[in-house]
Amino acid sequence: MTAPVLVINCGSSSIKYALIDADPEAPRLSGLAERIGTPEAQLKGKNSAGESFTLALPDAEHTQALKAILDSLEGRLPCAIGHRIVHGGERFTEAALIDESVLEAIERTAALAPLHNPANLAGIAATRKLFPQLPQVAVFDTAFHQTLPPHAYRYALPQALYAQHGIRRYGFHGTSHAYVSQRTAHLSARGAGGWLTAHLGNGCSTCAVWNDQSQDTSMGLTPLEGLVMGTRSGDVDPGLHAHLNRQLGWSLDKIDAVLNKESGLLGLSGLTNDMREVEEQAEAGHEGAQLALDVFCYRIAKSLAALSCALPQLDGVIFTGGIGENSPIVRRRVIALLPHFGFALDPAANEATIRGREGKLDAPDHAGPEVWVIPTDEEGRIADETRHCLEPHQ
Ligand code: AMP
Repeated sequence: MTAPVLVINCGSSSIKYALIDADPEAPRLSGLAERIGTPEAQLKGKNSAGESFTLALPDAEHTQALKAILDSLEGRLPCAIGHRIVHGGERFTEAALIDESVLEAIERTAALAPLHNPANLAGIAATRKLFPQLPQVAVFDTAFHQTLPPHAYRYALPQALYAQHGIRRYGFHGTSHAYVSQRTAHLSARGAGGWLTAHLGNGCSTCAVWNDQSQDTSMGLTPLEGLVMGTRSGDVDPGLHAHLNRQLGWSLDKIDAVLNKESGLLGLSGLTNDMREVEEQAEAGHEGAQLALDVFCYRIAKSLAALSCALPQLDGVIFTGGIGENSPIVRRRVIALLPHFGFALDPAANEATIRGREGKLDAPDHAGPEVWVIPTDEEGRIADETRHCLEPHQ
């Protein structure tokens, strides 16, 4: 399969896309259709010369936006489409060629991801209409974590909630954790050993990877569990919901909205969900921003320390995502909170490894566990999994 794969990440009001060649050096055409279904809908992208373009698409729905994406591909036709699907439940342990039974299974899982799976399905429906002849593959955020053992994925709840309703930990950001751990295993002399990965973007999660397999991860039934994120609280006392309901009269919808949209860096700082601004304001002396940074870094270190229990040996930690790739401050503070792990960060390497650079941040001659920065490539991974899934069918 030498023709490119079109990777689609379809949300309720946005579609991210990338046209990815089999040759990793070939330029990618990529972009984002946003505010779909509103008068301000638009397509922003980059052409093969790397130039940016913006196209107004007033009131466009998913199908029209995808048609505009297709028209922007400079005549390069994909051989397949890879869809990012947020939740694959327990059914999907790897990418799947989309047919009626796969669609039904994704629909059945929608109760576990009510904001995401229906939007992902809308994207599949639109691309099937536009490209009826092309194979389409579903690549799941949860699939990489299906190797978790029961002691890592079960909550201490009555059995029936798991057996009848699928209440368990699933984990997310699987394509990112898989990509950065495998890339590090390829680059490091230590190979595929025991790696802790920290995907730190607007959403944040950690993962323990042993021999290329996920052993445990910080997100759970939903992408709310675990670390502090841009607007998500991460872990809170499970008694919080009852307390807020009884004491403040808050409804479940209100509590859900506060924990997902008004908490995290935004809630703690009282300013912003954007880490760049949190760092600037903390530096300028803003107490809320300083606290947000303190809690954010402490919770990452605490999660990495906890996940180290899932590994027979620790070969190193890997930072990725917008914050993990670009914030020497966060990396330095997280590593400083883990002195007993024997990391040795080289300050100059830490400062220099930003803006898409990958590399090891260790002090010279350090023999202990390593610290890596690997820019994530979820789209590239989805394209690879799509090709891999289709190989026997070609
Ligand atoms: P992502 O969701 O992976 O695109 O990551 C978005 C997050 O990365 C936001 O919180 C950004 O503020 C953060 N980010 C991007 N660049 C930097 C930077 N230079 N320093 C600190 N945080 C950054």
